[in-house]
Amino acid sequence: MKKMKYNLLLAAFPLFAAVSCGVDDDDFTASIFDTTTSAVDATSATAPFDQWLYDTFVVPYNVEIDYRYKSQESGIDYQVTAAGYEQSQAMAWLLKYLFYQPYEEVLGAEFLRQNSPRQFRFVGSYAVATDGTVKVGYAKDGILVSLRYVNGLNLDYGNWTESDIDALNTMYFRTIHHEFGHVLHMRRQIPSAFRQLTASTYNASGWSGLADAEAHAMGYVTPYAAMSYEEDFAETFSSVICTSDEDWMTTIIDATANGMSSDDRNKVMALIDSLRITGLDDASKPWNNFTANGVAYTSFRDYLDNVPVVTSAGASAFGLLQRKVEILSDWCTTNWSLPIFSLRTNVQQKQSDINDFMRDEVAPNIFKLQ
Ligand SMILES: [Zn+2]
Repeated sequence: MKKMKYNLLLAAFPLFAAVSCGVDDDDFTASIFDTTTSAVDATSATAPFDQWLYDTFVVPYNVEIDYRYKSQESGIDYQVTAAGYEQSQAMAWLLKYLFYQPYEEVLGAEFLRQNSPRQFRFVGSYAVATDGTVKVGYAKDGILVSLRYVNGLNLDYGNWTESDIDALNTMYFRTIHHEFGHVLHMRRQIPSAFRQLTASTYNASGWSGLADAEAHAMGYVTPYAAMSYEEDFAETFSSVICTSDEDWMTTIIDATANGMSSDDRNKVMALIDSLRITGLDDASKPWNNFTANGVAYTSFRDYLDNVPVVTSAGASAFGLLQRKVEILSDWCTTNWSLPIFSLRTNVQQKQSDINDFMRDEVAPNIFKLQ
């Protein structure tokens, strides 16, 4: 049994958000999800939204959205507040736009009917546990995904900044894709080639002490990926889909900064190509203005030409990272007919169009309480 929670320092939210998964002994049975919740109470003040949720999620995707969080999630002692009515609607639209639509467009609706989480739960606040840790997301067995801090959504539709979009991924969508990665690998085993690549450096407790750059320089997409091969796989899955071009380029620079193998240069360009990162030679992009090992670079290509070759082939940090992405992509294709780089392109495009979407489609359709 898996559950996932994000722990972060209260005062530092959201900059120091970190993620952790743990083993959950609670039995989560289908009885918790009542598939007969289709009956919308027409007299309720929230009836129009409830009907929209039923038509938009239950009917096409077999998934329920519970935004009226009432009881405590089992086994965890903390206080939370309910999600606001408008914030819940905005989050539901985003879930449709950034999770369900991309998969449906790339793979068809049946894939999600069969494999998507059965229930999303929206919670207004993050949860403060008795030990003072703050939990901003939670998932259980891939059946229930709880999204916290829904009331933190910026409701200034059409005026989101890059940091709003980053927060959207950090707080919600990385969790969703990460957990969905677990769902899929529980049904089709993680290849042994993936498990073995960095088997000697997984650290169930030490991962939280890693900085991003340190994790990248060990062949991981994030510090949390260094926890175990399952978390590595889920993190790699969500990173290929969600991580921005800029953050991927930072990851690549970090993973090559200590030197490359002789075959890495071509593989770097191939990975950039696979991720469909555009503007490689655009001087205004951050990857054409950065410092690595104390040297200032104004061109990523120049940087790459100057990285020393430290091993003959394969064993560099970048080589490990690149191989993980390659194995993941092959696994997605073979087991799920999922072209994960196409999914990435779809999600990234939608993210870049998000202000138009929020202004033109979401804002006019927000229901007021009746
Ligand atoms: Zn996980």
